[in-house]
Amino acid sequence: MDKVFEQYLALEEKVKGYNPNLNIERLRAAYELSRNAHGDQKRKDGSPFVTHPIAAAEITADMGLDEDAIIACLLHDTIEDTDVTYEDIAKKFGVTVADIVEGVTKLTRVVYTSKEEEQVENLRKMLMAMAKDIRVILIKIADRLHNLRTLNYQSQQKQMEKSLESVEIYAPIAHRLGIQKAKWELEDLSLIYIDPIAYEEITSQIDSRRDIFEEFMNTIKSRISARLESYNIKASVSSRLKHIYSIYRKMYSQNKDLSQVFDLCAFRVIVDSVSDCYNVLGHMHDLFKPIPGKFKDYISTPKPNMYQSIHTTVIGSEGIPFEIQIRTWEMHHTAEYGVAAHWKYKSEISGNNQSEEEKYAWIRSLLESQQDTDAHDFVKEFKIDMFADEVFVFTPKGDVIILPANATPIDFAYKIHSAVGNSMVGAKVNGKLVPFDHILKNGDIVEIITSKSSKGPGRDWINIAKSSEARGKIKQWFKKEKREENIAHGKSAFEAEMKRNHLSISEFGKEEIMQAVLKKLSFGSLDEMYAAIGFGGITAVRAVSRVREELIKARKQDRQEKQPVAPPPIPPARDKSVKGIMVEGLENCLIKFARCCTPVPGDDVLGFITKGYGVSVHRTKCQNYLNSRARGEDEGRWIKVAWGNTEGETYQTALTVSADDRNGLIVDIATALGAVKTKITSLNVREVGNGKALAFITIEVKDLAALQTAMNRLRIIPGVSDVERPGVNR
Ligand code: MN
Repeated sequence: MDKVFEQYLALEEKVKGYNPNLNIERLRAAYELSRNAHGDQKRKDGSPFVTHPIAAAEITADMGLDEDAIIACLLHDTIEDTDVTYEDIAKKFGVTVADIVEGVTKLTRVVYTSKEEEQVENLRKMLMAMAKDIRVILIKIADRLHNLRTLNYQSQQKQMEKSLESVEIYAPIAHRLGIQKAKWELEDLSLIYIDPIAYEEITSQIDSRRDIFEEFMNTIKSRISARLESYNIKASVSSRLKHIYSIYRKMYSQNKDLSQVFDLCAFRVIVDSVSDCYNVLGHMHDLFKPIPGKFKDYISTPKPNMYQSIHTTVIGSEGIPFEIQIRTWEMHHTAEYGVAAHWKYKSEISGNNQSEEEKYAWIRSLLESQQDTDAHDFVKEFKIDMFADEVFVFTPKGDVIILPANATPIDFAYKIHSAVGNSMVGAKVNGKLVPFDHILKNGDIVEIITSKSSKGPGRDWINIAKSSEARGKIKQWFKKEKREENIAHGKSAFEAEMKRNHLSISEFGKEEIMQAVLKKLSFGSLDEMYAAIGFGGITAVRAVSRVREELIKARKQDRQEKQPVAPPPIPPARDKSVKGIMVEGLENCLIKFARCCTPVPGDDVLGFITKGYGVSVHRTKCQNYLNSRARGEDEGRWIKVAWGNTEGETYQTALTVSADDRNGLIVDIATALGAVKTKITSLNVREVGNGKALAFITIEVKDLAALQTAMNRLRIIPGVSDVERPGVNR
């Protein structure tokens, strides 16, 4: 039997071990396809190339992945390196396997060059987003792990690239997915190439003291075991030295040498149940001295990546601190294989007929059930990654640019710089010229062709661009660069919209109407409005709807102003009696409201017995009343009155408005009162000199609250300095 086949058989055994439903023929067919396709290809170490995908598949089998994933892993380099196509794989093994292989191929094509942290994070996100299926990432990690294990056959340049990429991109992804085992191995293997001297220093120092460490670990281990046995707690106790990269980080971040780095040794107690975990914890704290602040309960509060364990650091009689981790077997499996472990668990329960959505639903629910903020961020990231509403693309230099989903080269260009967008004349995606509305996909390399003789963006670009950033910048350009054109463009759009609404341009042309509209829309001139419509700052529809409003108002007001009105500011006297007023001691007496102070319900009022005209109601603040009292006249004629039922009644009251004398003031006042649904009985404006004007208004309101609303509305009209109720003491 040849060696390669032996290696394959070992894989088959491993998968059968945890997956009794394995379709052995299918797995073998994948192996054969891979072996034939890779043919004579060799690894750098001289072994047949196919040993690599088999070894990677063994790692994915350690993770407990499903049949499709193992098959895809066996084929993971075929699309990239052999004649085998996506269609070939889809035909033989189904679309799922083909999609996974294609996914891995795409990730492989992503070129990593060392970047600053933000770019690195974007790259991680992009890989996750590109992967779509979590199995793609898991296979990629297995692939990378095996490549690192055999990296010593590569050139120095390659070694450096691969190990940096592993530490910066793949180890954090593995950590995020909770695959500690892969994370550690990626880090330790990379360190050999990243800092060979430190790696050598740490390993040789550990080696030189290995006997001491071994003895120490054995002693502690047996003490733990003995204690738990005596209490009949079934437990597996193991010990290990912490992994080299973590020692390295401790040494260099805290600037210590190895002898100063404590807790190099770690112990792990694995039990059957959660209650045993806490039991064991109690015994450990009884057996050794716990170090305050070094206890963490990740069982009740799991880490975002689903990790669960109790950690405690203690000191034994030797005076050396060490960490003990306590967990159940299930937690242990999750800690080692993370998302992969849950993958296996879930696919065993529900088979493989889940939709993509269902496949990720469990990840989400699992993560969302975790409460700490880290977990929240993780969920957010995971969602972005898995259900991307973003697209990640590259600049030709290899920087990752994040754009909204369905973004186009226009969005890309403006994201780089508005000058790039404004002078864009063409775009290439993955080296091929594309139209400007081409939809970008994850991992695309986008190149913008610019020209100094470019005439700027096209007007249709605003509709093509998906990002508000690009649209804003395009509008900005039109606003600045193309004023004349914008005015012409905007004018014709405006007039077309007027026509569509059967509104007359000449009526709009009336000074008052036009000013009112411009003011409403905050434009200083008609050209400004046209220009804004032209560059897309406002739509013609919106402008025309304002015109319509103003025309309606003006027509109404015309009708009102044509009616003969008594000279302002004093409104005509009421002819109704008893209008919501109760007069003390009198019934059905004639009531009128004083024209001097025009009270409304809510005002403090009193009555004056007139000669032959009944009771006149004044406000207690009325200047006439106050004058009368000051003179001491007519004491007996002032009587108490009160508001009764005023429901359904309205009351005329007067207002004076002081304002800058200007065109359109009347219209603005009418509009303001219309806006608060206040009926105007009369409205007159008088110049008072110094560029000032006084408006006398009579309105009908139901009470003081309504009056105050109207007054407040009038106060915010530009140029208005004061709004008063006349006739009262102030
Ligand atoms: Mn590979």
